[in-house]
Amino acid sequence: MTRSPVLLVHGGAWDIPADQLEAHTRGVTRAVEAGYALLRQGASALDAVEAAVTILEDDETFDAGRGSFLTRDGRVQLDALLMDGATLSVGAVACVERLKNPIQAARLVLERSPHVYFVGAGAEAFASEHGMTLIANGELVLDRERLRLAEAQARARTGSPDLTFAGAPPTASSAHSHDTVGAVALDAAGNLAAATSTGGTLNKAPGRVGDSSLIGCGGYADNRSAAVSLTGWGEPIMKLVLGKWAVDRVQQRGPEQSAQDAIAYLYARLQGHAGILLLGPDGRFGIAHNTPRMAWALCRREGLRAGTRQEDI
Ligand code: ASP
Repeated sequence: MTRSPVLLVHGGAWDIPADQLEAHTRGVTRAVEAGYALLRQGASALDAVEAAVTILEDDETFDAGRGSFLTRDGRVQLDALLMDGATLSVGAVACVERLKNPIQAARLVLERSPHVYFVGAGAEAFASEHGMTLIANGELVLDRERLRLAEAQARARTGSPDLTFAGAPPTASSAHSHDTVGAVALDAAGNLAAATSTGGTLNKAPGRVGDSSLIGCGGYADNRSAAVSLTGWGEPIMKLVLGKWAVDRVQQRGPEQSAQDAIAYLYARLQGHAGILLLGPDGRFGIAHNTPRMAWALCRREGLRAGTRQEDI
């Protein structure tokens, strides 16, 4: 059965400051337009989410690719996940430091490897063997992020709690920024796909992996249930395997209610904060967040919509 394609993207969930709202909305809009143009030409959901996330990784507004948050020792370490809901084929990379577009490395893992998950130097070697260029880590680092890291570390020296890892209320300050990017798509053939990409959390320890690239945590896709991409405080999301928790409820509760349920469960159980996109195989979707804002954009036959607040949905 031919389906009317749908693409949903996000660019993080936090208290996005007023002076950054336009850049966030512009970024998610560009990404959704490009991915949807592919879907309209008959491309697969997998191609569309990869293309949309590549654009978001290249946009320095977001915590993915160049411009990502820095680790404790001032480096960029990237994680990404790509999953095909038709076959459950999946590819993921974590702690890569020399790839401009980790989502493209995830695609290579998905298509060219019997394995599903590569980390660190092994992931970079695999990507390089399959034609990707390795770059210097410094090419991914912005002065803006050096400054942000210095401020976070100065705050830590005064004994203030680490704002990212403290059990933060959903109305936390902009220092709790979560600018991870992601996308979920339904293509004309009725297949779902999901992609998530991140630089992780500010001032993270080298080697720390968050939810974003973990299967069933920051993303998942199965034609028989739904596609999901999350952003937010990674550790609680991982402990609840929240992406899988949410898609497993879509058949019974629908995507809209399941998205709300997942965020409510995250907060009730672990006081976590996050934003979620859910897309069902019938094209119905859900968006929910318990942060003040979440940057998202939606494209389908009815047109394009973008927003940053729960009321916009
Ligand atoms: N979830 C990501 C992580 O913990 C961070 C984010 O969404 O911004 O790695």
